[in-house]
Amino acid sequence: MSLGTVDLALDALLDVDHPIKAAAAEWAAGNLADPTFAQRERDCTFWAEGFRRIAAFGALGIMAPPELGGGGGPLAELLLTLEGLGYGCEDYGLVFAAGAQVLSTQNALQRFGTAQQQQRYLAPLLRAERRGAFCMSEPESGSDAFALTTTAERCSDGFVLHGHKCWITFAPVADFFVVFAKTDPSAGQWGVSAFLVDSSTPGVSVSANREKMGLRTTPFGDVVLDGCTVPEENLLGPIGAGASMFSAVLEDERAFLFAAELGAMERLLHTTVAFARDRRQFGQRIAEFQAVSHKLADMKLRHETARTMLYKTALLAAAGRSITMASALTKMHATENALTTAVDAVRVHGAKGYVSEFGIERQVREALGGLFTSGTSDVQRNIVARLLGL
Ligand SMILES: Cc1cc2nc3c(=O)[nH]c(=O)nc-3n(C[C@H](O)[C@H](O)[C@H](O)COP(=O)(O)OP(=O)(O)OC[C@H]3O[C@@H](n4cnc5c(N)ncnc54)[C@H](O)[C@@H]3O)c2cc1C
Repeated sequence: MSLGTVDLALDALLDVDHPIKAAAAEWAAGNLADPTFAQRERDCTFWAEGFRRIAAFGALGIMAPPELGGGGGPLAELLLTLEGLGYGCEDYGLVFAAGAQVLSTQNALQRFGTAQQQQRYLAPLLRAERRGAFCMSEPESGSDAFALTTTAERCSDGFVLHGHKCWITFAPVADFFVVFAKTDPSAGQWGVSAFLVDSSTPGVSVSANREKMGLRTTPFGDVVLDGCTVPEENLLGPIGAGASMFSAVLEDERAFLFAAELGAMERLLHTTVAFARDRRQFGQRIAEFQAVSHKLADMKLRHETARTMLYKTALLAAAGRSITMASALTKMHATENALTTAVDAVRVHGAKGYVSEFGIERQVREALGGLFTSGTSDVQRNIVARLLGL
């Protein structure tokens, strides 16, 4: 990594109003404001046009190679942009979907794809001409990801896949999937490989969108592989390397996906400060009650610490150091504190916080989703405990 990359991560850490973040927030406020959002959120409807706008803004391709149409930029530029989008765009489910695709499917293709696979699969993702999903979880293997039962058996035309993937972001609207499957069931995690599977392949079916508590505008569902055949050239990375590829991609996702949630947390802090300064009870502004102002101080502390951890992790990555401990700590801290912050915002807003039309309660529902993606908080604690030598 270049020194410039480290410099930008350091700049981002020191400047909560960094110009790249501010520009993304302003762009999102102007270009991703959707008058139908409240209804879409109720109906669990994804905004494809909004996703195309995010691609046209360049956010999906920030780190992708210039020869594929990407910006070839550093990680901190992506994080500042996600933060800005999270701040400026009310539809957090849309921004979450964009960040998830960049940090999982695109990251896997960029790290492990051949030039031909990158041209065919990665380049169209940057322009939102196609959408990709990253499929590991199964009905019987969630946290215990390598207990997967999806299989890929060699055949004369390549590999034939059987299995069921569930809880997959983008599944109902994806054009292709990165699918993890066992190529050698006797070899444990060393028998896992990854494949690129087009959604139009015979034998592939997807569920309808699954309604969920939060992130309701993020498409979500199952992928069933019933004897679908993929050619040898759709093997992603070496045979048997699926587990280490998955771990590498997931480590990035868990460390960095929540940049967008930090933006949403910060907007919630500002909204709640404004409300507390305005709302009067017992003849005074509620901000003057210490019980209220201390909640806001705690919200600020949580945002500041999570943000510092995010960019510290980015600095480690930019310096080529291990982020295993830092990514687990960052993910756990950011997502758990986003939830506590959202609950505190509801408390300060009183009934207005609890009623759907003001959009405060939604942030509790969104924040709960973060506790499961990229590994639950318990799984992060297990990683930290292991690294502590326990
Ligand atoms: C919004 C959202 C988007 C998602 N997107 C994707 C996606 O795109 N692709 C994909 O593959 N998956 C995706 N997932 C699935 C996600 O990865 C899993 O939900 C997660 O790995 C947990 O698995 P599980 O839900 O089966 O829970 P389980 O693993 O069954 O866990 C249930 C409970 O047991 C606890 N637990 C389990 N094992 C341990 C342990 N060893 N120690 C301590 N506690 C433990 C967990 O912490 C949890 O509290 C998504 C999930 C959500 C909610």
